[in-house]
Amino acid sequence: MNEAPVRADARYVLYWMRRNRRAHWNHALSYAVRWANEMGLPVLCCEELNCGPSANDRMYTFALEGVAENARRLAALGCGYEFHLREKRSERGCRRLALAAAALVTDDDAEPFALDFDVPVAAVAVESSCIVPISRFEKREYAAYSLRPKIMRMLPQYLAPMQPVRVKHRYAERARVAFSPVGIQRMVAACDIDHSVKPSLSIRGGVLEAERRLAHFVKHNIARYAAQRNEPSKHATSCLSPYLHFGHISPHEVAIATRSEPAFQEELIVRRELAHNFARFSEDPRSLKSLPEWAQATLLKHAAGKRPHVYDRDQFAGAETHDELWNACQREMLLDGVIHGYYRMYWGKKIIEWSATCADALETMLYIHDRWALDGRDPNTYANVLWCFGLHDRPWQERPVFGMIRYMTLEGMRRKTDTEAYINEIRELERSA
Ligand SMILES: Cc1cc2nc3c(=O)[nH]c(=O)nc-3n(C[C@H](O)[C@H](O)[C@H](O)COP(=O)(O)OP(=O)(O)OC[C@H]3O[C@@H](n4cnc5c(N)ncnc54)[C@H](O)[C@@H]3O)c2cc1C
Repeated sequence: MNEAPVRADARYVLYWMRRNRRAHWNHALSYAVRWANEMGLPVLCCEELNCGPSANDRMYTFALEGVAENARRLAALGCGYEFHLREKRSERGCRRLALAAAALVTDDDAEPFALDFDVPVAAVAVESSCIVPISRFEKREYAAYSLRPKIMRMLPQYLAPMQPVRVKHRYAERARVAFSPVGIQRMVAACDIDHSVKPSLSIRGGVLEAERRLAHFVKHNIARYAAQRNEPSKHATSCLSPYLHFGHISPHEVAIATRSEPAFQEELIVRRELAHNFARFSEDPRSLKSLPEWAQATLLKHAAGKRPHVYDRDQFAGAETHDELWNACQREMLLDGVIHGYYRMYWGKKIIEWSATCADALETMLYIHDRWALDGRDPNTYANVLWCFGLHDRPWQERPVFGMIRYMTLEGMRRKTDTEAYINEIRELERSA
């Protein structure tokens, strides 16, 4: 990340855990340990939560639920661990530790982290977010069909179990972090963040919970995934997207555990890594300008098309449309921070149909994801929100408002899925709230 030298008189190599909040299956941590072993130093790992503009109780609670287990596992490996909760926007956390390190290792990501302060020591970013590193590609891929053969060619090289991390020089002080649920509530309440977005009702964070969900999926769902993943009331999917987003689980670990199911690997590897490719190589992954030309042209041609209903951002956010199924999807988002993948497509398509303009529709989808989605603010968010506008898709038959963009109907949802079962489930969820 820079040209600075390794610092000679330092006590540790710092691993700044910014994206992949886990101590296992973590290539950046593994790199930091090997580098520190060569220098005869221990590794200190630093994790922090800072008050970004969209920080709220839901995101903070989910991340904090992973901290105690990260501390325990890093101590077992022999690494130091410091967790910083930046309660106020002005506080400085891990940066202080970076200034005193021999060298800095951090996570590379689809949207690479800029070092927004001057690091006087050698700094390296290592990717552990995708299976085939995003940097193996040089440009934006057109769609899944163009990425798939390239990924499949490189997969044998990258999809291998990781060698265990072996620390030669243990960090002297042992971190003791024990956060009870009440303790987490108190910490979150003391932060200068948005307290109006409550923690998810049923989704708890952390590596232990991620591993439990993966084991449950492999035991109970994987065999029926291909047949039932588009029937929300069957609960056949993995529910791993929040954990992949916070880095509480590694895509390598998930891919190796699910090798027997090609339909799942298509989503986890091809679709997810296509989204990372899009986020890395697009000038602005949150803009309609990143759509293919045919999609921009057809949406422009139909910009003045008459909408059957028009809602504004707050009506959408409040689940106040005429459509009971759509409102149930939005309530799932408000209460739990996710929407089932199949209904999420319907949810997005209808926002396009019922917004005054495409720009308004995009703003609404991103606003809702930024605020409420546990897996939001992710390459998957941007690629999939723009998929609703034609990204990575092909032209379909022309129709009002959508032009040649793929369209979805309530009748289609009723025909293909048990919408009543889902609506009743969301009512139950609301009652439990
Ligand atoms: C409008 C819209 C917005 C979306 N926003 C997000 C988002 O903010 N974050 C997010 O992670 N996903 C998003 N998706 C993609 C998809 O809906 C979720 O990844 C999926 O529903 C998560 O549930 P799961 O973990 O049970 O998925 P599973 O079916 O169990 O799939 C396993 C994993 O594969 C990946 N995956 C699945 N479907 C897709 C896809 N279409 N594109 C890329 N990767 C995929 C995810 O990482 C997922 O966790 C969005 C889809 C749409 C249509």
